[in-house]
Amino acid sequence: MLNDELGIKILLLISEGFFYAYICGMNDTLKKYLTKDERELLDLIKWHRDMFATLSPSEQLNVLSSPNWLTQFPKFEESITKAAQNRKERYDETQVPVNCACETCGAFEHRAPMGEITGSNGWKHNQYFCSACQKPFVDYMPNNPKDKLSWIKNFVKKMPKYKDKILDESGKKYFEQLKKDVPAYEQAYLAEKQYQETIAQAEEKMGKISTGWRDQLLLVKVRYLTIGNSKMGSS
Ligand SMILES: [Zn+2]
Repeated sequence: MLNDELGIKILLLISEGFFYAYICGMNDTLKKYLTKDERELLDLIKWHRDMFATLSPSEQLNVLSSPNWLTQFPKFEESITKAAQNRKERYDETQVPVNCACETCGAFEHRAPMGEITGSNGWKHNQYFCSACQKPFVDYMPNNPKDKLSWIKNFVKKMPKYKDKILDESGKKYFEQLKKDVPAYEQAYLAEKQYQETIAQAEEKMGKISTGWRDQLLLVKVRYLTIGNSKMGSS
């Protein structure tokens, strides 16, 4: 009876291994969103699974009859995959195409950013490519709430001195609108700040967890390589 249960456990572990190998293989693009520790953890999981597959049936039963890491692997992989997906989603949000005018020829198009440039004042701006004049250009407005607020406050502070000389009627209207919009930009910045803090906390927690798992699996591997397979996978 006990051996039947262990046999089923082995089958489940093998099928889970194939399932996650399949999922990880299908999501190659997610791999660039993994941290160094998460990559090492995935390598160690693969190493443990490969090693388990080389054991004789009785050795496998021996491993599975005591507390072991193998049953935890799907949980580890699920957490890592989820963290990478979340990072990818956050990156994708910054790549959404927007309507903007080319700084060179004025052509108005729906464009996705081709890159990011940090100006001398530290503000980050999106760079776009104009299909009309075939030239790259940098959006004058920064691409994130913090720099955007700083840019607008600077503009509103400095512009009154020059606005009659350098702004046309539509420019003056834009200036007046920006002044009215400052509180809304402040709100957006505060909301973004809170969101970034939440993400930083989640990343810190994930970092500690994956580093902890990595270190423990590494210990088990070293122990296996030192004293043999009887202790493989035990925690
Ligand atoms: Zn253009």
